[in-house]
Amino acid sequence: MSNQLPIHEGLFTWPSTKPQLLGSRCVNCAETAFPAQPDCRNCGSRETNIVELGDRGTLWTWTIQTFMPKAPYHSDETAETFKPYGVGYVEMPGGVRVESRLLPSKPDELKIGMPMQLEIIPFRTNHTGDQIMTFRFSPVAEA
Ligand SMILES: [Zn+2]
Repeated sequence: MSNQLPIHEGLFTWPSTKPQLLGSRCVNCAETAFPAQPDCRNCGSRETNIVELGDRGTLWTWTIQTFMPKAPYHSDETAETFKPYGVGYVEMPGGVRVESRLLPSKPDELKIGMPMQLEIIPFRTNHTGDQIMTFRFSPVAEA
């Protein structure tokens, strides 16, 4: 049986039925960072706490990745099987902007300011058959 492992520790709560992005917040000035940082980039304090950033945000800006990225990008894709995907920044409650892969891959499916939902998805399979999981955002379904 294969496991589902996060692509990096500390990016999101995992395993979880309702995963949350994880960041850090400075004890001194409340600056929030993603990914979590041991030192505050605003005031230099070394006291930061890991905090949940939530699982929803709004699309701040985006583009379409139309060619396979160079290393360290490491997926199961090849130049032949690569499919374009959206990439952008999602602003989380509290203001931190998170660079993320996006589900939509066509410009007319993406709009600045649209509400986005976090998803944890399989990215590739490692040498022991475990699934390596990453995160992306997809548009929140219209009510
Ligand atoms: Zn600080």
